[in-house]
Amino acid sequence: ARKKIIAGNWKMNMTPSEAVKLVETLKPLVQNDEVDVVFGVPAIDIVPVVEACKGTNIAVAAENMYFEEKGAYTGEIAPAMLVDAGVKYVILGHSERRDYFGETSEDVNKKVLKAFEHGITPIMCCGESLEQREQGITMDWIRQQVKVGLQNVTADQAKTMVIAYEPIWAIGTGKTATSDQAQEICKGIRECVAEIYDTDTAEAIRIQYGGSVNAGNAAELFAMGDIDGGLVGGASLKPDFGKIVNYK
Ligand code: 13P
Repeated sequence: ARKKIIAGNWKMNMTPSEAVKLVETLKPLVQNDEVDVVFGVPAIDIVPVVEACKGTNIAVAAENMYFEEKGAYTGEIAPAMLVDAGVKYVILGHSERRDYFGETSEDVNKKVLKAFEHGITPIMCCGESLEQREQGITMDWIRQQVKVGLQNVTADQAKTMVIAYEPIWAIGTGKTATSDQAQEICKGIRECVAEIYDTDTAEAIRIQYGGSVNAGNAAELFAMGDIDGGLVGGASLKPDFGKIVNYK
């Protein structure tokens, strides 16, 4: 059975000192050895948060990363910097990065490959807009995002990574996908992975749901067969995150 992975995405919230305080608050609440617990934090918070998480079950994720090794890329963060700082995961291709900062699936693919080169586990995001859902092209769109995102990723690499399904219309809106809607797409993503690789890879890869996950709906969502945990925005900044991690 796949181990659940429950990750917070703090987005652009928490100064370094606020971040350390939040970790201190959440630390005792997120203890659960049955799930992998991840805090995705702003770049400037990574160093103090890694320090504050030492000796706990919490792994730290970056919210983005550049696909070049180093050099004249003002403002960007290199994979080796993340590794040296103690980062284990990187959230890639979040819809906010795609929509506000013009990231394409090709960019996301370059970042996924670069993360693997450095031993960082990608959490690769995908998801449809409300318009795409209404047009009935949700699964076609997501298959496209997943296929491009996984180009040249080996089966052994894919087995270790995480895909986060986040319908854009459910992010920050309080409008969660129903557990059946979320399950349908997560199952479709797993089928897509099986087509690209094989069933072993599809059975190993972990697929999260994200979009208005909270303490009240986590248990139902995470009980679905193809939902291996969540990528949590707003509720990851609150003690509620402890309830989500201990959803059972
Ligand atoms: P919310 O949980 O705030 O809807 O955000 C979801 C998300 O985008 C996580 O990456």
